Amino acid sequence: MMRVHFWGTRGSLPVALTADGVREKLQAALRAARGRPLDTEADVQRLIASLPFATQGTYGGHTSCVQIETGGFDHFVCDMGSGLRPFGQAAMQQHGGAAQTFHIFLSHLHWDHIMGLPFFVPAFVPGNRVMVYGCHDGFEAALRRQQEEPSFPVDFSIFNARLEFVRLAPGQRHEIGGVGVTPMLQRHGGDSYGYRFESQGKSVVYSTDSEHPLDQPQHTARFVEFFRDADLVIFDAMYSLADAVSIKADWGHSSNIVGVELCQMAGAKRLCLFHHEPVFDDAAIEAVLAETRRLEEITRGARPLQVSAAYDGLEIGL
Ligand SMILES: [Zn+2]
Ligand SMILES: [Zn+2]
Repeated sequence: MMRVHFWGTRGSLPVALTADGVREKLQAALRAARGRPLDTEADVQRLIASLPFATQGTYGGHTSCVQIETGGFDHFVCDMGSGLRPFGQAAMQQHGGAAQTFHIFLSHLHWDHIMGLPFFVPAFVPGNRVMVYGCHDGFEAALRRQQEEPSFPVDFSIFNARLEFVRLAPGQRHEIGGVGVTPMLQRHGGDSYGYRFESQGKSVVYSTDSEHPLDQPQHTARFVEFFRDADLVIFDAMYSLADAVSIKADWGHSSNIVGVELCQMAGAKRLCLFHHEPVFDDAAIEAVLAETRRLEEITRGARPLQVSAAYDGLEIGL
């Protein structure tokens, strides 16, 4: 089995739901409740379930961090955005004082993908092992640098866990903790890497901060192969297509439309939109999701592609 837990889904920088944002949700919920029975707890729950996700929930605000559970004892995590902090707390609660091993895979070293490390509680606990994998030259130095004066008050010496840094060769399959892991070079400022995870016949691709010039057939073929028959593709859909082809071309991100196209060509089963634009509110992300699902329906081939939008706390079982 594989189970994917999203701890941070926002792109570029964390955002918080504001008081105004909460009030708007309450107003929308109360308007929807007009004339409906609300006498029992079951009535209340039914009403909540009938509301759009943008009203009854929120996509959330932490930056990139995705946990992939494989049924074993070791933890597998993609990126160390601010979502790494709640993940670390949950891992401590789950296993208490027992020593744990964390395998953390870095897409790249942009700030939104590494800012959670100084707040990762398991790294402070003696006996724990934190293995950080990356493909960039000198990635350990970049992590140390964000924890140096004057940017941060405490450096790596505060970590009592065993920290190890392992450089992976892209384009090759590595066996790590019983899981097959294949990194892939992606087009992004300073380069980024996607990862394909394979375990017990299931496969998950984590592909964020990646631009796809679909007019380059070789590039497209490489990614279709990378996404081939995946059970889930977690995809950088920061921009709408209009943005992606005009003002924001060459900014290093992709769109929901390109995600659908690549997944359909690859025969992937499920697409999860990820790395949401920080300017978008919940209603805007929900609108992008609806648009993406409509596009998938219109262009559907032999097999449907299930589309969802990642939010902090979302779990997908495969
Ligand atoms: Zn990013
Ligand atoms: Zn980036």
